[in-house]
This record gives sequence, structure tokens and C-alpha cells, in this order.
Amino acid sequence: MKCSICGNEAVHYVPYERLYLCKEHYAEWFEQKLVRNAKRYRMFDGSRRVAVAVSGGKDSTTLLHVLKKHEGEFGFTTVGFYIDLGIDRGTKYSEVNLEVVKRNFEEVGVEYRIVDLKGEYGFTIDDAKRRINRPVCSTCGVVKRYLMTLAAEELGADTLATAHNLDDMAQFVLSGYVYGNLEHLSRNSPVEEPERGFKVKKVKPFFLHYEYEVLHYAVLMGYQFVYDPCPYSEEFRGVSQHKLLMSMKRIEGDTPGFMLNLVSNFERNIRPMLYREISGSGQVGTCKICGRPTAPGRDICSFCSIKQKMLAVRG
Ligand code: SF4
Ligand code: ZN
Ligand code: ZN
Repeated sequence: MKCSICGNEAVHYVPYERLYLCKEHYAEWFEQKLVRNAKRYRMFDGSRRVAVAVSGGKDSTTLLHVLKKHEGEFGFTTVGFYIDLGIDRGTKYSEVNLEVVKRNFEEVGVEYRIVDLKGEYGFTIDDAKRRINRPVCSTCGVVKRYLMTLAAEELGADTLATAHNLDDMAQFVLSGYVYGNLEHLSRNSPVEEPERGFKVKKVKPFFLHYEYEVLHYAVLMGYQFVYDPCPYSEEFRGVSQHKLLMSMKRIEGDTPGFMLNLVSNFERNIRPMLYREISGSGQVGTCKICGRPTAPGRDICSFCSIKQKMLAVRG
């Protein structure tokens, strides 16, 4: 097929826009979609320093490159960080990712920080898997959320950018409806202003990009990223979550743009209402160990509570 814009050979088809694109026009379309959404949702209004959480996978690697490329249009400086979670399980997962991420930081030319969970906090996710009776991805989620905001603050950033894509967001919205988790739904925004004791704004610039669009762009651009998933990824999604995603993909196949409409309509029309009704209730606390914010009604944050357990079982 021919590119709908220039007539050269097309490499990508956008089914929900019925658009065929050559490599050059796909790259332009992909990047402009990010710039447009970032402006529409005011992601970088007031941002001077944006920290990108880079894991080594396709989504965050691409986000680093694209934000660095377009930072001038928004007037911010891009910085990056990697959290070395100490995941090995015979695959050297964290070690391999660290090397790839460092190469990307050097190639793009940004200031960066490597957070070493073992060196700085005394345990790894592999240790936690062995010693704490809690699903490993739940522990990892707490650790990542805590260290991401901290790393962004330590880098002097006012904004933290994460690489959640449309597939992540659609799954989140649909499962929020299915399980009626309104508090979570009300908070899962592509732009979270600093609140409840946190200093950085959190943004998700790829929240309307399909996962396959990011993958295709990353491959076409020749970025170095890690294809292999985390060795715990099988445990990440419950069976029902996985089925939900597969069902959504089937509907997407029959009705192109389904996931895009689900997420963008939710964000425009439903979430703001939920946020007004639900959020803001409950006073945020302060962790008596680390001094960072805690959930309402708790005096030790989830991260410190995990760390305490790890130190106790080490005995
Ligand atoms: Fe962490 Fe689980 Fe993701 Fe692995 S799959 S990085 S353990 S949340
Ligand atoms: Zn073209
Ligand atoms: Zn704490």
C-alpha cells in the first residue's frame, strides 16, 4: 500500500483513522500525537525539568527519546533515572536492562541517576519474593512507586513522566468498572498534579498510544531496548486481567478505536466527576520512619513497612 500523505511505500496502517503511512510520516504522526495530547491535557504546563522513569523496555525507552527530541517545544529539560530492582532469577534481568538503559541515557545525552535498591535500601525484589508472603508484583509496585517520585525529586524535577500506554490504561479503566474500584478510577489520570504531600506532577504522555504503535515506532527508529519480559511477568496479571485484555483486543479488532474511545471518553467525561466526588477526602499522613507522605490513617508508609519486614526476616 502507498502512504496516504506522500505516496511512498507504507509501513504502518492506522485502522481507526484509515491512514496508511510511510516510515517518515508514521514517525511524524506518532510524535505529533504525543505533542498534541500533551498540549491538550496540559501535561507540561509549568514544567521546567521532566524526569523519565526508564526501565529498558520499549515504552519507556521510546518516551525518553521522544521527550528529549521535543523538549524545546515545551521549554523543559529532560532527565532520566533507572531503578535497579535486583531481579535476576537466572536471567540477569535487572543487570541487562541497566546496561541498555545507560546506553540510551548516553546516546540521548541527558543527566541521569541509577537507583540501586540493594545498595541503598538493603534488599532486592528477588529477596522480597523469597522472604515476604505477598505477591511479588505487589511488593515491586510499592517499591517502584515510592522510588520513582523520590528519584524525580532528587533529580530536581518538577514532573515525572511514566510510559503507561493505551493498553495499560484501557485495562485499568475496564477493570475499575468491573470491580467497582472508584477511588482508583478517580485517581488514574494522565496528569496528576502534585498533591497529598508529593512535590512532582505525574504525567503519562503515551496514554492514548496503543502498545503496538509504540513498539512499531521503536523498531523503526532502531532504538536499543530489552524485548524479554521480567521473569515475574507471568505473575503480574491475574488470569481475569489477562482475559479482560484479550476480550478488549477482540472488540478492538472488530471496532477499530474502541480502546481509544474508552480511555479518552473516560478521561474527558467521567474521571473528572469521580475525582470531584471521591478524592480529596481523607487527610494524608506522614510516615514516621522516612517522613514521606502516607495513605490516610497510616503512620508508616507501605515502602517502609516492606523494608522493615525485609530487615526483620534477615535476622
Ligand atoms: Fe516488578 Fe512484577 Fe513488573 Fe517484574 S513483572 S517488574 S516483579 S511488577
Ligand atoms: Zn509518506
Ligand atoms: Zn516511609
